[in-house]
Amino acid sequence: MCGIVGYTGPRQVSRILVEGLKRLEYRGYDSAGIAVQKDVAQAGEPITLIKKTGKIAELRKAVPKDLPGHCGIGHTRWATHGVVNDVNAHPHLDGSGKIAIVHNGIIENYVALKEMLEKEGTVFRSDTDSEVIAHLISYHYDGDLELAVKASLKHLKGTYGIACIHADEPGRIVGARNGSPLVIGVGDGEMLLASDVTAMLAHTKRVVYLNDGEVVSMLPHEFKVSDGDDRVLDPKIDHVAWELGAIEKEGYSCYMEKEIFEQPDSIARALSGRMDFEYGSSKLGGLDLTKKELHAIERVRVIAAGTSWHAGLVGCQLMESVARLPATAELASELRYRNPVVEPNSVYFAVSQSGETADTLYAMREIQRRGSTVLGICNVVGSTIARESAGGVYVHSGPEIAVASTKAFTSQLAAFYLLALLFARMHDMSHHEGVEFLGRLKDVPDLVRGALAQRDTIQAIAKKYSHAKDFLFLGRGLLYPIALEGALKLKEISYVHAEGYASGEIKHGPIALVSPDTPSLFLVPNDYLREKTISNMKEIKARGGPVIAVADEGDELVASIADDYIPVPRTHALFQPFTMVPPLQLFAYFIALELGRDVDQPRNLAKSVTVE
Ligand code: GLU
Repeated sequence: MCGIVGYTGPRQVSRILVEGLKRLEYRGYDSAGIAVQKDVAQAGEPITLIKKTGKIAELRKAVPKDLPGHCGIGHTRWATHGVVNDVNAHPHLDGSGKIAIVHNGIIENYVALKEMLEKEGTVFRSDTDSEVIAHLISYHYDGDLELAVKASLKHLKGTYGIACIHADEPGRIVGARNGSPLVIGVGDGEMLLASDVTAMLAHTKRVVYLNDGEVVSMLPHEFKVSDGDDRVLDPKIDHVAWELGAIEKEGYSCYMEKEIFEQPDSIARALSGRMDFEYGSSKLGGLDLTKKELHAIERVRVIAAGTSWHAGLVGCQLMESVARLPATAELASELRYRNPVVEPNSVYFAVSQSGETADTLYAMREIQRRGSTVLGICNVVGSTIARESAGGVYVHSGPEIAVASTKAFTSQLAAFYLLALLFARMHDMSHHEGVEFLGRLKDVPDLVRGALAQRDTIQAIAKKYSHAKDFLFLGRGLLYPIALEGALKLKEISYVHAEGYASGEIKHGPIALVSPDTPSLFLVPNDYLREKTISNMKEIKARGGPVIAVADEGDELVASIADDYIPVPRTHALFQPFTMVPPLQLFAYFIALELGRDVDQPRNLAKSVTVE
């Protein structure tokens, strides 16, 4: 959450900062600002500060086109402390107006620090926790910004990604991280610092991922990374594989639409090179486990949040039914504050699109502290979870910019199918069954393409029901987590209330919600659970509730019972999550469009939840 960008080099910094913030807008978008170092001999305040409530477009309007300056920092905020207004927007200045900071995260002990600084005569301007950082640095400043930052960090409790500049140190940016991501972009005679690589992709693909506890001090031609003990480090420069086009809309009206329709390709990427038809198994070299270690695994645990948790729920059912391994998926925000029993021979999968989800990261560290192996299932290469896990699976969905996750979800599913196959082949599954499984998995991109072809039907149904205030999403077995995901998508981007339930549960309570104004969206499995689901549909119909059914094409019975029917390509029941979820994503998308919502940047949300 929140985006940080910094630039130092020969070019006009304000343009690069605003452009970078636009790229990072999906991380937070309630207000934004920039602070630019003045080139020597400019009159007025030592640092030019421009802050605006609202989206980056507002900031862009406020920044003069010809604003001079070659070094500066910017921020797009997702408020945690203090209302959304111009004053609380970042950057924040110290009392002298010479130091500017931006901060991502939460300073937990800011009240005590503020009281301490106020006693020293400091006057605070904002209600944020972040402002204490600017004043602390000022308190410690004695001609060296890096030293002052390091001294200040010793006081801070909480999470932070920080970037700061000082008017008297031209061209220098100092950054530090603890729990919130920061990446250094190494350019040709210029340097960047940002929350993620999307902000720098237009300028450089050479990056250094900062670790927790590290501080970077950069000038246009050099950078130095040191750790908490002041040791200078020799960090590795990574190369980012993403192309700039991947973070453009490429003709689509919004990122979410683009990402939904990209799924046949993104799933194919997740599977690419990993299907081993010869052995009827999967090749997942990134797990970094020996055959012996893999064989020793007796149970699987998934830790995740939101959409990733839904992928984990599907994954766990697969582990049980395909690989015959006991498996459970836990909400990371719950697990991290419990006192979890970590059983021997368990493996944990930490699932996170961004690889930065704070809850998942902290839960993972807790599990590691207790001696268990945690593997990551992440999209963003080089992300914290990916780096701190013992190994894992990159899902390769490409950059996901829309706040509501779509293509990362189906790629996470693909990773779980591969994993389930791998474990199954080490236990009870025959070679022949493995090959058959792979054959079906290989068809998934085409199946998804077929489901997406229902676009117009789904749009018409969404239009018909767009007035509804409540929805029920109902599924069984593998389709139960898909129902949860469909309800979440609708809530996230349309702000319409939706409940996801296991269809068999409705009689235990939710059926009381059924009325002509509350549509139920059923996901109909094509196996032994079909009849049960049809009975549940009838129960809803008997009570006057409208029924929308997503079912295999040619299912005449379902079509005759449901008020509206979304046919999807027929596949084996085990693979139905892939055909069922795209219609739900599109349904949420079209309802949100009908209601005039900001699909890519829904209210109150932000991508990459790096705060608690
Ligand atoms: N806690 C800070 C604030 O509320 C930073 C939030 C953010 O990460 O955007 O201003």
